[in-house]
Amino acid sequence: MSAVVMDGKALAAKVKARALAAAGQLERQPGLAVILVGENPASQVYVRGKVKDCADCGIACFDYYLPADTTEEQLLALVAELNDRSDVDGILCQLPLPGHIAEKKVLEAISPDKDVDAFHPYSMGRILRGDPCFLPCTPAGVMELLHEYGIEVAGKKCVVVGRSNIVGKPMALLLLGENGTVTVCHSRTPDLKAECLQADILVAAVGKVNLITADMVKEGAVVIDVAMNRNAEGKLCGDVDYPAVAEKASFITPVPGGVGPMTRAMLMENTLAAAKARQ
Ligand code: NAP
Repeated sequence: MSAVVMDGKALAAKVKARALAAAGQLERQPGLAVILVGENPASQVYVRGKVKDCADCGIACFDYYLPADTTEEQLLALVAELNDRSDVDGILCQLPLPGHIAEKKVLEAISPDKDVDAFHPYSMGRILRGDPCFLPCTPAGVMELLHEYGIEVAGKKCVVVGRSNIVGKPMALLLLGENGTVTVCHSRTPDLKAECLQADILVAAVGKVNLITADMVKEGAVVIDVAMNRNAEGKLCGDVDYPAVAEKASFITPVPGGVGPMTRAMLMENTLAAAKARQ
């Protein structure tokens, strides 16, 4: 079998076009505040991408580039100011923050109605309960891809490898919310291969090149690769041994061009939803 490649780039373009059209319908232009503290090169790339996405989607972007020695108090004061601003619908603080700033404190300071990254405990609690709320962009992007390709989750055995708060755990909850039977694996899972072989839908979100090899994948499985790694040659790749796994899977996401563009697109969708709710 040769898998259908799930084109995240094409779907992200559709989602962004939808966001642009929706932005045009609003009385006031939606606004997203993006805060970057320090000069982490990867974070700079992500922030540049978000600024561009806003421009593509008709969203005003208020970008703040703060020096690495910004104090926690200064950052919290900026978040408080943005919480109060009527032209700001969403607030995103690019992670990781420098070590002297308590990330949790900053994320908890963002008003839940502007929490477009969905990292606030309030948003996470609502996801746990299955209540309507912003969805974290990466797992939401994966769900959007599954829907686009007509992949039914209900009744399927889903295995999520990785249990971070931003990807693995919410991913598992969204799959559960659509009635998948979900197993979550992590670094202490004794027999990862045996777990993965059970999966009708396998989501890899670890950050280790070639962790998921073809012998760990059931024939015909749907394989979603969330990871963004660099291989020995410096090339962007995921956790999945793509060429070999693509021969066994029914559907597969490429890296790049799979989940990554969807993550960015879902942030725009969340910002639109925040703006709609606040107008
Ligand atoms: P993370 O916080 O480092 O979490 C990694 C998870 O993988 C942890 O739960 C860890 O288990 C588990 N793990 C580590 N080694 C393992 C092993 N040998 N077998 C099974 N599980 C193992 O990473 P993250 O933030 O979730 O990100 C995961 C990957 O997704 C990274 O490559 C990241 O760059 C990428 N990512 C991509 C996007 C996107 O838009 N495409 C967005 C976010 C992240 P423990 O909990 O036991 O330590």
